[in-house]
Amino acid sequence: MLTRRSAFQIIASLCLFLFLCLSIALAGQKVCDLCRQPVEGTYWIYRNDTIVCQRCKETLPRCAACGIPLRQYYVQNDKKICTLCFEKLPKCSICSQSLTGKYWRFKGSDRQYCERCYRQASRCSVCGLPVLNGRLLPDGRILCPSCNGEAIFGYITALNLLQEVTAALGRQFRMRIDPVPSLILVDKKQIKEFASKSRPGLGVKDLSGLYDLETVGGKKTRSEIYLVYGLPRSTTIAVLAHELTHAWQGDNSNMIPSSEAYEGFAEWVAFKLMELQGETREMERMLKRKDLYGRGLRRMRDLEQKHGAQAVFARARGAR
Ligand SMILES: [Zn+2]
Ligand SMILES: [Zn+2]
Ligand SMILES: [Zn+2]
Ligand SMILES: [Zn+2]
Ligand SMILES: [Zn+2]
Repeated sequence: MLTRRSAFQIIASLCLFLFLCLSIALAGQKVCDLCRQPVEGTYWIYRNDTIVCQRCKETLPRCAACGIPLRQYYVQNDKKICTLCFEKLPKCSICSQSLTGKYWRFKGSDRQYCERCYRQASRCSVCGLPVLNGRLLPDGRILCPSCNGEAIFGYITALNLLQEVTAALGRQFRMRIDPVPSLILVDKKQIKEFASKSRPGLGVKDLSGLYDLETVGGKKTRSEIYLVYGLPRSTTIAVLAHELTHAWQGDNSNMIPSSEAYEGFAEWVAFKLMELQGETREMERMLKRKDLYGRGLRRMRDLEQKHGAQAVFARARGAR
């Protein structure tokens, strides 16, 4: 009596393709490898010299992937699969189930998902891929393990990035920002609430940062950057560059806050920094935005392509 495992091994040694069809048993007692009965008349040889009698070929179920007749098989999504094919099937990145029939892949990712996980799993708020046991943040965002590993949560880390980006803007674009704004880490819910009070006209749904300036008698009494935590490092740098540009605009430009040009210029500076740092994924994300930020950025890029980067800075300063 074969154990289930050794029976699988025998079937595994069968074959993927029918390589010699029809032979005639003339002499010697050939035995069918599936039913162990002597074969009479027509029989079939599959790869690895596995002999299958006519009756087994006609009556046994077939592997849904390679078509060989089966005595032992796996059942997956109501389909019978031979061991060899089963082991070769791609696996769902969430539930590890072998993927037969329809499954899902996402552009730019080598992972794949079964229909059920694709429909039922939550999505990572950063990369958008289905995720099981992701990290749930208080504002409802979910991060997949890989995005969570890259995300900026710590205040000191964020503060160091703020200093680095301030220095980079000075070095790369001669933008002097003084004093460096204070930094406040918030979640998406908090920034939304804050924006609805302080910048009701902004109309940007997906906010990751906000600059808040208060002056009394021409003197800055408050200069603050609100930064959403849990964003990837590159996004955090882009957001900081954007908000620091608003701080610079306060002293160097008369662009109207929340206007397309005002947001577009800040986004363009952040985009240029991403370009210098080779952050192509971030650049793509910024260019794809359909809101005020994306429209403003594309407008500044048009200006840059026609008249150069200096013309963009002149536009930012010129309104003064
Ligand atoms: Zn047989
Ligand atoms: Zn098969
Ligand atoms: Zn799955
Ligand atoms: Zn992710
Ligand atoms: Zn802005």
